[in-house]
Amino acid sequence: TKWVYTFGDGKAEGKADMKNLLGGKGANLAEMSNLGLPVPPGFTIPTEVCTYYYAHGQTYPAELKGDVEAALAQVGQLTGKSFGDAANPLLVSVRSGARASMPGMMDTVLNLGLNDETVEAVARLAGDRRFAYDSYRRFITMYSDVVLGVSHHHFEEILEHYKLQKGFNLDTELSADDWAALVVKYKEKVAAELGKPFPQDPHEQLWGAIGAVFSSWMNARAITYRRLHSIPESWGTAVNVQSMVFGNMGETSATGVAFTRNPSTGENALYGEFLVNAQGEDVVAGIRTPQDLTEKARKTAGSDKPSMELALPEAFKEFERISHVLENHYRDMQDLEFTVEKGKLWMLQTRSGKRTAKAALRIAVELAAEGLITEEEAIGRVDPAALDQLLHPAIDPKAERKVIATGLPASPGAAAGAIVFTADEAEAAKEKGQKVILVRVETSPEDIHGMHAAQGILTARGGMTSHAAVVARGMGKPCVSGAGSLRIDAAAQTLTVNGQVFKKGDHITIDGGTGQVLSGEVAMLQPELSGEFATLMGWADKVRKLKVRANAETPADARMARSFGAEGIGLSRTEHMFFDAGRILAVREMILADDEAGRRAALAKLLPMQRDDFVELFEIMKGLPVTIRLLDPPLHEFLPHTAEETEEVAKSLGVDVERIERRNKELHEVNPMLGFRGCRIAIAFPEIAEMQARAIFEAAIIAAKKTGEAVVPEIMVPLIATKAEFDIVDAVIRKTADAVEKETGAKLTFQVGTMIELPRAALRAEEIAKGAEFFSFGTNDLTQTTFGVSRDDAGTFLGPYVQKGIIEVDPFVSIDVDGVGELVKIGVERGRKSRPDIKLGICGEHGGDPASVAFCHEVGLNYVSCSPFRVPIARLAAAQAAL
Ligand code: PEP
Ligand code: MG
Repeated sequence: TKWVYTFGDGKAEGKADMKNLLGGKGANLAEMSNLGLPVPPGFTIPTEVCTYYYAHGQTYPAELKGDVEAALAQVGQLTGKSFGDAANPLLVSVRSGARASMPGMMDTVLNLGLNDETVEAVARLAGDRRFAYDSYRRFITMYSDVVLGVSHHHFEEILEHYKLQKGFNLDTELSADDWAALVVKYKEKVAAELGKPFPQDPHEQLWGAIGAVFSSWMNARAITYRRLHSIPESWGTAVNVQSMVFGNMGETSATGVAFTRNPSTGENALYGEFLVNAQGEDVVAGIRTPQDLTEKARKTAGSDKPSMELALPEAFKEFERISHVLENHYRDMQDLEFTVEKGKLWMLQTRSGKRTAKAALRIAVELAAEGLITEEEAIGRVDPAALDQLLHPAIDPKAERKVIATGLPASPGAAAGAIVFTADEAEAAKEKGQKVILVRVETSPEDIHGMHAAQGILTARGGMTSHAAVVARGMGKPCVSGAGSLRIDAAAQTLTVNGQVFKKGDHITIDGGTGQVLSGEVAMLQPELSGEFATLMGWADKVRKLKVRANAETPADARMARSFGAEGIGLSRTEHMFFDAGRILAVREMILADDEAGRRAALAKLLPMQRDDFVELFEIMKGLPVTIRLLDPPLHEFLPHTAEETEEVAKSLGVDVERIERRNKELHEVNPMLGFRGCRIAIAFPEIAEMQARAIFEAAIIAAKKTGEAVVPEIMVPLIATKAEFDIVDAVIRKTADAVEKETGAKLTFQVGTMIELPRAALRAEEIAKGAEFFSFGTNDLTQTTFGVSRDDAGTFLGPYVQKGIIEVDPFVSIDVDGVGELVKIGVERGRKSRPDIKLGICGEHGGDPASVAFCHEVGLNYVSCSPFRVPIARLAAAQAAL
């Protein structure tokens, strides 16, 4: 087995498609090297070593030591230096690099190889003693923190104390002797904390750092991140050891990060930040405010600090050239890290850049327009689930904006909520159903659970590449970062800005598109779905085989569904129409009536209301199919709950309260979700189905006249287990149709179909399809009844199931392909046996989940139906499934 892969000097043993072995960073360093780009020479210890390490009681393969020595010698040859050499020392960086990027999760050590001897050699060779000791103290700090477990705050305290003593304000005021004096203090601190000295042997340092990278694969933060992003533990991480280049060698040296296109908006312009005379982590750490790369960006930001374009013109030109080379080579927007050492540019990293959904869309569409990728590839470049971000509300431009602060527009979308100051508070509030904004000085990986729970994130410190910004963009959460005028007092639980004090629980709104922070809850607007969004959706629509309908019953939802591109209504839950204030009394009368006459009296009141509802739906969905489901109420939701409500019903029905109370008790159910609902209602009280069918048919006639378009209603019977149930309700519907035709002289066209949402119905699909003209898989109930897990109570115990790995994802969110999916497959096959052209759809929550949509495509359904907001997600997911 090969345990080490070298790169540098225009060649490499690895390449880009070896990510599984070399990790993302290692594979791309190799690729850049192969492309002849300036990459500091180094080598990658592959993920296989990590796997070996954990499989063998945290030990290494026997050959590794020799292989690393050989690789170090080769790097030394290329750089003209030698690792551990007191006269001409090679210094290296040691970084982790997993297959998938795990920001902030793994650790980095820079300047490794420095000790009391080599620091003097570096000083001599660089002709800069201050630089050498500055590097050494950085190394001690980082190495102690990451490898030895001596927290960096110890060193910060020593530094602050030293500066205070000497009357210094800025680090730049410290001389070489100051840093040298601090190095002594730092080493004393390490010795005091650990009871042994800071390691002076570069080889000991190197193996310590390599071990720390491998161990950090199993630290709590990494485990959490993997869980949240479904990254398997078995992947392991690689380790990259690379010769150091120095961005802190004076004013012609710098370090920076950049995206080849704007990761927030997608604009095709180099975008990033750099710091003169600084090293690696300084840019992301937010200690100094970084400068813009381009003059254009500098002017837009109104900054008076020179851009890289001005300050380091040669290096900038070269960087611009390389950024184009890399974008064209990878055919995607790249996220780059670079260092300029004494005017010479070095590339330290390239990878596909994380981006907002908005940017993903624009970049995909523009790359296709530029001919770099195909339309199909563009479709595949946008994560359907991330479209959610674009469908988020924005602040209503007409709303009054009481701007209290402005930070960076770190992640788009607007969010409002109560202020909380810790991640735990955010999580607790979410559990209580409260909407909160997480307000932090800055965020770290420990805050991730709170960021998940919050509506949005606001930080006082940190740039566009800070932890908060990167993570929020990934999550699709609105985020404003680096709002420097905020004074956050976490202990007092206050946020002060320009003298105005906000307490925990006070409401604010953030606008991740502009960076504004507003007091109070500000009105929001629905997003605009034109431009690149429409273009990509158009491409998706050409490719997909599945139709996409919406679950909607109110006119507002139906209009929304159409604007999102729904091709009809796949589920109109009529019980939702019964909740309206003017109706609930009549509904209660209907349910609580003792006899048919009483029910018919109540139904007569409901008929015109239902008819009006349907007329409006048919009009909005002009010509598109509309599936209306007969009443499927969890009865308990409709029963009167208070004495007042009971009295009201009694009065209206003209009976005494006791009778209503008795009937209410009779109807009480232990398990309403498996109780008197679905077709069971229509079978017990056929007059209810009759009223609904009549309302549908009469509405169809009215709407057809109004719109001039034929209306072909699809009437759906819920929760059947047997064909006999279907037949009874079907007969009621058809009898009603005959009656309406006779009364009106109109000719009705319609279909009667059924939900398949009980395992028995799926198994008996062949028989049921002899009667039913269409099936719609109700995967909410099908999941509930297949697992025997109550859909209303699952929340309390499914969490631990996911954590323990018993199930991968909540089966109510993403379809359980192996179990519930198999029943769907059986239903499809058997249904088609007796009715080859049967129309098949799905209308459970799964209809808007990308993985479930892919499954629906595979089993050959005709359409998915989902909530209006998820229609675009389903359209794109359906297209991706068809690629
Ligand atoms: C279902 O069960 O999947 C379904 C769509 O019906 P409801 O959610 O209304 O029970
Ligand atoms: Mg159901």
